[in-house]
Amino acid sequence: MSIATNNIAFNVEEIRKDFPILERKVNGYPLVYLDNAATSQTPQQVIDVIVNYYSNYNANIHRGVHSLSQEATDKYEAARIKIQHHFNVKKAHEIIFTSGTTHGINLVASGFASILKKGDEILVSALEHHSNIVPWQMLCEKTGAILKVIPMNEQGELIYESFEKLLSEKTKIVFLNHVSNALGTINPIKKIIDKAHTKGAAVLIDGAQAAPHIKADLQALDVDFYVVSAHKMYGPTGVGVLYGKEEWLNKLPPYQGGGEMIATVSFEKTTYAELPHKFEAGTPNICGGIAFAAAIDYIDSIGFETIARYEQELLNYATIKLNEIEGMKFYGTSREKTAVISFNIEGLHPYDIGTLLDKMGIAVRTGHHCAQPIMDFYKIPGTVRASFSFYNTKAEIDRLIEAVKKAKSMLA
Ligand SMILES: *Cc1c(COP(=O)(O)O)cnc(C)c1O
Repeated sequence: MSIATNNIAFNVEEIRKDFPILERKVNGYPLVYLDNAATSQTPQQVIDVIVNYYSNYNANIHRGVHSLSQEATDKYEAARIKIQHHFNVKKAHEIIFTSGTTHGINLVASGFASILKKGDEILVSALEHHSNIVPWQMLCEKTGAILKVIPMNEQGELIYESFEKLLSEKTKIVFLNHVSNALGTINPIKKIIDKAHTKGAAVLIDGAQAAPHIKADLQALDVDFYVVSAHKMYGPTGVGVLYGKEEWLNKLPPYQGGGEMIATVSFEKTTYAELPHKFEAGTPNICGGIAFAAAIDYIDSIGFETIARYEQELLNYATIKLNEIEGMKFYGTSREKTAVISFNIEGLHPYDIGTLLDKMGIAVRTGHHCAQPIMDFYKIPGTVRASFSFYNTKAEIDRLIEAVKKAKSMLA
């Protein structure tokens, strides 16, 4: 594959101007931000929306008759519709605003407590983030359901044949991520969803790591639940959405009680609001939801095709260059992967490398990446993870390579 810069269909220097944080220095060096899988940076266009909200129409929604409240409500509901269309969802009320992926997963896991019976089975992939493991373990403790794990191979790919063997009429829900945050593996979710449905099992896909890189058409996928966080999609922290098929959302009980989620309340009996409000108790992150929609506009202004092509170029370039360093070992070499490189250098601790990189202005993540089972599989304490975005450049990758070499010679 070509790595020539003239293949790039957009001007990365122009794009970088949209992100004020990329101008700053860290420890005396211009920042090289390669921790996009943990959180992405926010463009001025989204920052402006946040400033405008608090400067001009901050008000509580769905309650007031006054103008500000109406304006905030209109913008918030328009954001829901924007997100609905972005993910090609049939009905706006199938989009539930949450505080993020973790909240969305907990909402569904907690709802399944009223559906599962002792001896029912739940399948989880070996590639999961802790936020997609722990809520299900808690659910199993509550219900007596059994958690089974779909294993992965050395490349960090799920073993599909093992999934087929584990799946049975006892399986009530299958959950896995679309893209692994620790390794970047893109899972064959369409195949898994279709197969799971043949046994009547529901499927929850954790899309947190896929949503910034891959267009997900949720109707085409026929997925039952899909969860994302805005902060990994160039939006603010503290907001995300849960997509659920209407029939599933109707089946699940409310997650939290409070204002906004009720139809009528008396001490004898409370009736719940219709979707989506049934799952949106209390005052939501109004500004966050509106800014999330602005982040989606920003992504769409570049386009997923361009994003994917450019990020794959960065991935290839960084993989080739890093591989030239002696003692380099990559984790997660799946054929289908996003621009994430997890690595170690023989004899060195990832934490030491990460600390030295930071001294040179380079932000990477080190550790288990909230995916300890993956680290256990490879029998390592953690990795150094460089995760790329469309605003990164080859010059930044060159700085990463130089810094890794320098760290290596300092630690040797
Ligand atoms: C980041 C991430 C999460 C958790 O997202 P929060 O925004 O912290 O709730 C879950 N799963 C994956 C794959 C992630 O990358």
